[in-house]
Amino acid sequence: MLTVRELCKTYRADSGSPLRACDRVDMEAARGEIVALTGPSGSGKSTLLHLVGALDVPDSGTIEVDGREITGLGRRALAEYRRGVGFVFQRFHLLPTLTALDNVTAPVLPYRTDFDKRARARELLESVGLGERTGALPSKLSGGQQQRVAIARALISRPALLLADEPTGNLDSGTGKEIVEVLLGLRERFGTTVVMATHDPGVVARCDRAVELRDGRVG
Ligand code: ADP
Ligand code: MG
Repeated sequence: MLTVRELCKTYRADSGSPLRACDRVDMEAARGEIVALTGPSGSGKSTLLHLVGALDVPDSGTIEVDGREITGLGRRALAEYRRGVGFVFQRFHLLPTLTALDNVTAPVLPYRTDFDKRARARELLESVGLGERTGALPSKLSGGQQQRVAIARALISRPALLLADEPTGNLDSGTGKEIVEVLLGLRERFGTTVVMATHDPGVVARCDRAVELRDGRVG
C-alpha cells in the first residue's frame, strides 16, 4: 500500500550546516498493516511522517501510495492526495467549544453532501468506543477519550492511510495500549493502514511491525 524508497530530506541546522533528517529511507506498509516508527527523539520519525503525508517535500527518493507516485504530483493532485490521508498528533487539538460529534464532522467541507456526516461521525465514535459520549465537550473527556475523538475525526473522510505522530505521547502506558487496540479495531472494520511514530515499548509490541530510525536512517 505504501512504498518509500531512498527518501532523503536535509534541513539546515541552527549552526548552518546541513542536517540529514531523512537519509535514504526505505520502508513499506501493507494494506491494513499497523507499522510502528521507533527511534530516539530527533531520529527523523516526524520528518518521515510529514514527507509521507505530503506536508513537506523530500529532496530525493520516491513515495508510492496505492500504486501512485506522490512526489511528482502537481498542486491539485497533491491537495487531493492529502485529503485522503488522516493525521493524528500527540496533542489532540480538539475544538473546546464543540461536542465530540461536532469535532469529528468539523473537517468536512460544507458543500460535501455525498454522505451523511453526522451518521458517519456517530459510527466512527462508536467504533472508537465513544458511542455514549457523542454530545460531550472535550473538557468532560479523559485524555484517552479525547485522543479517540481525534482518531475518529482523522477518519471522517475514510482515508486509506492514517499517520499518527506519537499519539500516545500524552497518555499513560495503559491508556496508550487502549489507543492501539482502537487502531487495531479500525483496521478490522475499515482496513485502515496505520504508520505510527512512538517510543512506548508497550505500544510497539501491539503493532504488526516496527521500523527503527537512527539519525535519519533505518536500522
Ligand atoms: P523525531 O520526530 O524522531 O523526534 P524529527 O523528524 O522531528 O525527529 O527531527 C529529525 C531531525 O531534523 C532533528 O535533528 C530535528 O532537529 C531536525 N528538524 C526537524 N524539522 C526541522 C526543521 N523544520 N528545520 C530544521 N531542522 C529540523
Ligand atoms: Mg517527532
